[in-house]
Amino acid sequence: MELQVIKTQNPKTKPAFDQLGFGKYFTDHMFMMTYTEGTGWHDAKICEYGPLAISPAAQVFHYGQATFEGMKAYRDENDNVTLFRPLDNFERMNRSNDRLCMPAIDKEFVLNALEQLLMIEKEWIPNLKDTSLYIRPFMIATESSLGVKVSSEYIFMIILSPVGSYYAEGLQPTSIYVEDTYVRAMDGGTGEAKCAGNYATSLKPYKKAKDMGYSQVLFLDGKERKYVEEVGTSNAFFVIDGKLYTSPLKGTILPGITRDSVIKVAQMKGIEVVEEALAIDYIFEVAKEGRLDEAFASGTAAVISPIGKLAYEDDVVIINEGKIGDMAQMLYDTITGIQTGRLDDPFGWVKEVK
Ligand SMILES: *Cc1c(COP(=O)(O)O)cnc(C)c1O
Repeated sequence: MELQVIKTQNPKTKPAFDQLGFGKYFTDHMFMMTYTEGTGWHDAKICEYGPLAISPAAQVFHYGQATFEGMKAYRDENDNVTLFRPLDNFERMNRSNDRLCMPAIDKEFVLNALEQLLMIEKEWIPNLKDTSLYIRPFMIATESSLGVKVSSEYIFMIILSPVGSYYAEGLQPTSIYVEDTYVRAMDGGTGEAKCAGNYATSLKPYKKAKDMGYSQVLFLDGKERKYVEEVGTSNAFFVIDGKLYTSPLKGTILPGITRDSVIKVAQMKGIEVVEEALAIDYIFEVAKEGRLDEAFASGTAAVISPIGKLAYEDDVVIINEGKIGDMAQMLYDTITGIQTGRLDDPFGWVKEVK
């Protein structure tokens, strides 16, 4: 497939790179391609960022066939542009798409298109500390038809947003509410797919936690409301007696690329990693015995986000005196160091964009 490039005649004024926030500004161009059953993917193009014309009867608006990804590009002092494990994101998107009966993308073709887009938008990649260009690939079902069925048409797009630090407070420990009513995933459901519907249903528990003064939600398993699963849109880690615990990937948890990077970096540093579903009661028990050294969440947006306070029913524990722990700090420094080229890349995770 050919890739058409149509550059805009009207570039926008860029925002100040020290006041970006998260996901508020978008660059001048986007990537787009169309899928039609029988033909496959076609009309791949890089064009001006702007609104779409889509039928009000498009399947996505009614039955929610929509998947997405989240990744970042970085620009260093020497103007080198890099991506972190990009093929892993496209591979995961294909797994999400399979769960929703959506077509696979050609990972190499899309990566190449992304690289061309990044070269066009190079000046949009912020280079201040803790800033990056957030990359949002996504796919929606566009067939105009109200029957509940697998859509025969899709569009896949990539849009780009320069971002600052994810959490307004920076790398400050967060306060987390353990949700005991709502769940985000069930065995056999879509928990491991990055599909839009999962996030629509998480808004109510987020709002509940926010209204109570907490910054995020920790979800428990859908069956017994007993085992820890994830923190909002990130994976959860607990340090108990010096060992690092995280929930296993058994279908209800999003297989985070940062989660995988945390596990590999921790193991490289000689830390024992245990993939085991921990009961929330057990976490509170060890916290009270002083054995819960640290807790943190991992995801592309914030990389590592320490948890300073955990509330469950009528119980509250403060973790590591509400301060960022040594392991969380080490993991943050190592992973962001590899991502930005400050540290060596022993795993071959960084892809230079040229
Ligand atoms: C995207 C996401 C994560 C983190 O995945 P990364 O690849 O590390 O960014 C974790 N949990 C949920 C629910 C997510 O949507």
